[in-house]
Amino acid sequence: MTDPVSSSTGGMRPGTAVHTLALHLHLQHQMPLGELAPYFRALAAGRALATRCTVCGRSWFAPRLACPDHGPRTQWHELPGHGRLVAVTQTQTSLPFNDNISASHGFALVAMAGADNLCFARLAPALHAAQPGQPLWISRAAGVWPHPAQAAEFVGRAEDRVVLPLPER
Ligand SMILES: [Zn+2]
Repeated sequence: MTDPVSSSTGGMRPGTAVHTLALHLHLQHQMPLGELAPYFRALAAGRALATRCTVCGRSWFAPRLACPDHGPRTQWHELPGHGRLVAVTQTQTSLPFNDNISASHGFALVAMAGADNLCFARLAPALHAAQPGQPLWISRAAGVWPHPAQAAEFVGRAEDRVVLPLPER
């Protein structure tokens, strides 16, 4: 085990030692999901819950709680769950709240069927060679995830899609 106590000049004038101690802190925070709770619950189940303006009929996924033209007259509705890849990037990174485990990830913009906007998506590991135009399905990712937004991933075949029942509210 290495000694957690270290000394350096710490930016002080030369010859002045600054003694530090490396601490690893773990914080627990109850994050409210607010009015977007239905969206996040659906993501954790591998489902795409969108909002639709009851006046103009436009639909958004990720959802908007208010139409830019008609205000908060929106209703929740579930999309079929498939879409097309618009743009993709590959990168080596760690996901938030994931203990800095670095891995190769594919992130994409997806045009979901039934939505008028694009959504941000994390691609399943098997899709790292995905190209624009490719069909995609939202799916529940295997494993335990610290945030429901991370529990959803996009797969390249309908038969690979994992959809769970929506939990009770
Ligand atoms: Zn509207």
